[in-house]
Amino acid sequence: MAKHQFQTEVGQLLHLMTHSLYSNKEIFIRELVSNSSDAIDKLNYLRLTDENLKDKFASWKGEINITFDEKDKSLTIIDNGIGMNEEDMINSIGTIAKSGTKSFVEALTGDAKKDSNLIGQFGVGFYSVFMVADKVDVISKKAGEETAYKWSSNGTGEFDLAPCIKETNGTVIYIKLKDDEVSEFASKYRIKNIIEKYSNHIAYPIFLNYDQEVIEELSEEDKKAGKEATKKTERKHEQINEATALWTQPKAKLKDEDYNNFYKSISQDSSDPMLTIHTKTEGVNEYTTLFYVPQIAPMDMYRADYQSGIKLYVKRVFITDDNRELLPTYLRFVRGIIDSEDLPLNVSREILQENRILANIKQSSVKKILSEIKKLSKDEEKYSKFIEQYNRALKEGVYQDFTNKESILELLRYKSTKTENGKMTSLEDYKSRANSEQKAIYYIVGENEKVLRNSPLLESYKKNDIEVLILDDKEIDEIITPTIGAFKEWIFTDITTAEAPKVEQSEEEKQKIEEEFKDIVSKIKEKLGDEVKEVKVTSRLSESASCITKDVQDAQMAAMAHMFRAMGQ
Ligand code: ADP
Ligand code: MG
Repeated sequence: MAKHQFQTEVGQLLHLMTHSLYSNKEIFIRELVSNSSDAIDKLNYLRLTDENLKDKFASWKGEINITFDEKDKSLTIIDNGIGMNEEDMINSIGTIAKSGTKSFVEALTGDAKKDSNLIGQFGVGFYSVFMVADKVDVISKKAGEETAYKWSSNGTGEFDLAPCIKETNGTVIYIKLKDDEVSEFASKYRIKNIIEKYSNHIAYPIFLNYDQEVIEELSEEDKKAGKEATKKTERKHEQINEATALWTQPKAKLKDEDYNNFYKSISQDSSDPMLTIHTKTEGVNEYTTLFYVPQIAPMDMYRADYQSGIKLYVKRVFITDDNRELLPTYLRFVRGIIDSEDLPLNVSREILQENRILANIKQSSVKKILSEIKKLSKDEEKYSKFIEQYNRALKEGVYQDFTNKESILELLRYKSTKTENGKMTSLEDYKSRANSEQKAIYYIVGENEKVLRNSPLLESYKKNDIEVLILDDKEIDEIITPTIGAFKEWIFTDITTAEAPKVEQSEEEKQKIEEEFKDIVSKIKEKLGDEVKEVKVTSRLSESASCITKDVQDAQMAAMAHMFRAMGQ
């Protein structure tokens, strides 16, 4: 038997699991059942596509079994899915491989109270079992392989791993419950109740196996003879979930709670979603989609190795959850499933990219999601929460998704010289506030909202009552805004390069002023020398003495303007 150290982050996570109070312990059952369901999904796909497994698993049917034993203080969850070999165990339940989970652990503060709040927002899968377990054995055999392995750990620093005997493929999770968890979780009613709550619509049957005392029926003759009824123990094998994939159910039958619980079972998130979008489409292409927008943006959203949140199914058979092309990148925060009736069951994951049916599904899914977000935007309070999380991702969509650019622009919100602190405006509202001559959307970009709001460049716009958007997400605004072009024919115009709005001034007046400032202008020019292209009198400003502007043709000048801005000038 070999001892293995947990990866440091796993150690940290486990410490938190076992030492911090956590109010919602029951979710470990949801997490383990969801892993079993995933494992069955995987084998279901492989037996259709892998020649070596086809015959052996021709009549196989996925199922999950749960047993408990109060005397033994144990709870066991068994599946006949894909299983794990030695390497899988080391990689999957000894390490944190997923970037989402990894950034979650990185975000831990060491303050147990704060950290357990964080866990509340973010499920941590398998490891949650250590909230209730003194010790866990994972016994597993990978489909198509010979050797089974047993992984054991008490949730501190290390785990044991050794070959063992197991006849069939799949995984057994044997949980030795902590003393004070036995009465709660080694209980028929409690388990039934948790499964119904979270796993009712897992697509495979979940059976609860338990002993029940039954009183033997006496025959009439025995009754007459005065015989006593005898008790005996019967082994029950009872299906405790509906085992119908949730998305196949008619909408009318599903309650918010059903949708929310299903979301939690597929998303690693323990909060309810912000938006739920369930669509059945018939016609040329037949498919069902169920999309969710999380309340809080996924942790890995801004990591290059972010994970897709969409699972693809064909006729209820899971195909992949690892395809980032199922939705466009800017919608990578969306969780959910796509289930197609038309794709071939043995579709290889590799050819999905070029598939026309899938491209159609993708296109209409995007339209549907954007239109639901639009509906959400009618509720200002709810929408501000959406914007707080996803404005930035949507901005990416403006240049990624040309077809939907206009609808995305309608969804974006911006700070502006006419919004109060913390409030934002839509472009539509910006337009409606503008005076009748205005034909452009003015904006200024920079890092710091306060600096931008105090920019001397805004003065003449303020004086002319022209609203200017304050774009302070520089990293993205600077790249994207110039590519927008126009919104409903109003050109996006950067006020650092644009002609300032005209202030009425006669030619005579202008000459008079230039004459008056001639000396000072040439002195400044002399002083700054080659550092500036030109120093001139301007009508842009109404309060400040001077400002720096960029000349788009002159890259060097632009770079300098940037430098000055960076220095807070
Ligand atoms: P996630 O399910 O989000 O990947 P988990 O922590 O729940 O994260 O599980 C980690 C990994 O362990 C899974 O991705 C899977 O590879 C493996 N695993 C866990 N439970 C099982 C199981 N019952 N059968 C096969 N593999 C499993
Ligand atoms: Mg999981």
